[in-house]
Amino acid sequence: MSVQVLAAEMAEVELKDVPSKELTPESPLTTKADDKGIVESEPKAVVPLATTPTMEPIVKPGDPSPGFLTPNTKMPQASAMKRTDPQQNGGEAFVNRDGTVAEAPRLKKIQFADQKQEFNKRPTKIGRRSLSRSISQSSTDSYGSAASYTDSSDDETSPRDKQQKNSKGNGDFCIKNIKQADFGRREIEIAEQEMPALMALRKRAQGEKPLAGAKVVGCTHITAQTAVLMETLSALGAQCRWAACNIYSTQNEVAAALAEGGFSVFAWKGESEDDFWWCIDRCVNLEGWQPNMILDDGGDLTHWIYKKYPNMFKKIKGIVEESVTGVHRLYQLSKAGKLCVPAMNVNDSVTKQKFDNLYCCRESILDGLKRTTDVMFGGKQVVVCGYGEVGKGCCAALKAMGSIVYVTEIDPICALQACMDGFRLVKLNEVIRQVDIVITCTGNKNVVVREYLDRMKNGCIVCNMGHSNTEIDVASLRTPELTWERVRSQVDHVIWPDGKRIVLLAEGRLLNLSCSTVPTFVLSITATTQALALIELYNAPEGRYKQDVYLLPKKMDEYVASLHLPTFDAHLTELSDEQAKYLGLNKNGPFKPNYYRY
Ligand code: NAD
Repeated sequence: MSVQVLAAEMAEVELKDVPSKELTPESPLTTKADDKGIVESEPKAVVPLATTPTMEPIVKPGDPSPGFLTPNTKMPQASAMKRTDPQQNGGEAFVNRDGTVAEAPRLKKIQFADQKQEFNKRPTKIGRRSLSRSISQSSTDSYGSAASYTDSSDDETSPRDKQQKNSKGNGDFCIKNIKQADFGRREIEIAEQEMPALMALRKRAQGEKPLAGAKVVGCTHITAQTAVLMETLSALGAQCRWAACNIYSTQNEVAAALAEGGFSVFAWKGESEDDFWWCIDRCVNLEGWQPNMILDDGGDLTHWIYKKYPNMFKKIKGIVEESVTGVHRLYQLSKAGKLCVPAMNVNDSVTKQKFDNLYCCRESILDGLKRTTDVMFGGKQVVVCGYGEVGKGCCAALKAMGSIVYVTEIDPICALQACMDGFRLVKLNEVIRQVDIVITCTGNKNVVVREYLDRMKNGCIVCNMGHSNTEIDVASLRTPELTWERVRSQVDHVIWPDGKRIVLLAEGRLLNLSCSTVPTFVLSITATTQALALIELYNAPEGRYKQDVYLLPKKMDEYVASLHLPTFDAHLTELSDEQAKYLGLNKNGPFKPNYYRY
């Protein structure tokens, strides 16, 4: 059975399984007769974007190849979501389920004149961990569902030094503590409730196994949401071996539950640099087992295989990559003619960019600020730097709480959007003396420089929601005249000689992913896209995909979205024949051209 037919059946099953009968999106992969009884061709390759890593799909009306733009062409479609950059600061403490910080605030004074080194290598209870950004950029800067609800910091022994076995005697894993498996299982079950599309795909797997024979090696944040994805892939027939893409993001209890369930997981919260690569290597390097699919978040796994085991690519059918960083690396490989298998860019799917970036941040910005500072938002003056998707989400949340929100932008289009959404567009230097909170969301560097930090008022909270920790010039604060006090996990007071202090969160790293969790439902969208991308690449007939980077077709985006609509008891309107003809659309989608901006 072809993957197209299989996916079609999945769609039917899913939609039978979900409450709303009004939602009948067809599978994006279906090949069937259109309204006129004409059988349309199977979906073909999607748009290669080898030279446009950061751009939207460059497909214009009239472009010959991609089927998207031909109204009646049925194309597969998926979308994605990614998420997550957890515990980046070392996470000595963690957040309880009720939102309280578990560990009592500790005061740690750090003088930088002669202790700069120590700041970067601050020892923690977890042992081998280093706070330097030495590993790989993506391992520390990619996003991840953050807080682990358990803290295994009492146990100083490195997992690598322990003999580990699950209750069935299997020892092909390396995690913090297998005894946490029951707790982890509950976390996974909670996540399942918010990941409807994956659960629907799983039900379908009772009959068909579209990933039968797939040997997936994965490197993502190891969280409850990832566990739901892994268990879904397994139900679809795949074997999985997994490592963490971020040294701080692993939920130890979830890793334990996966190991107890028979998954080969190599990850724990607070890995050292050496641990990080060791775990990846243990995933890949196993006698008698070779991966044929890669699921990566940040590109480190892909990079490792390229570097250490290039011959493995002979058997690998494709790479699915969800992060900005990883996708960028793939485009670089492609440009250099070194990409030797097809790759799916999940990061740039509509359902990733327009959901994860916007809604995830809208929901988590307040959480991150509240958990770290207990700040009241009503009436506070906040400046948000950057009015892209992340900035829009932050501004919307803060406005709803009664904050007075200013926006800075470099792009007149986004600036105009900010104005028309009711925000005051300013230059940072115009408001820097008066604001209570500064939030960066630009993806740029040195947006908040020392000069601005010097001029902020006493008590100003400074944080970053962008990808890396370069937006706030934190390094400029590591000077002898300033004193740092660690007042809570992820909260530093930086004190000027005159007593003024600013409140720096997560050392300028991603606030939401360092200090709060992110909504599971958003992750469900990405995870579903990842699963569909794996199915598509694994089952694609020879020649459909070349050694290039592809976006999943819009119809697959629509499909992923449709699978999440029943959660809201949403009733989708169907086009009449007359309307479809009028708009020049197929009644079953895709409903928008590829260049549509949403
Ligand atoms: P975007 O490109 O849509 O928005 C960034 C905006 O910042 C743009 O409009 C740009 O014009 C503006 N900008 C750039 N330099 C500026 C400057 N010096 N001053 C003011 N504005 C400036 O990107 P996005 O999707 O909003 O993502 C922003 C960042 O957040 C990226 O680094 C992204 O990786 C990251 N991100 C974070 C999360 C999270 O959960 N925290 C989720 C998704 C993305």
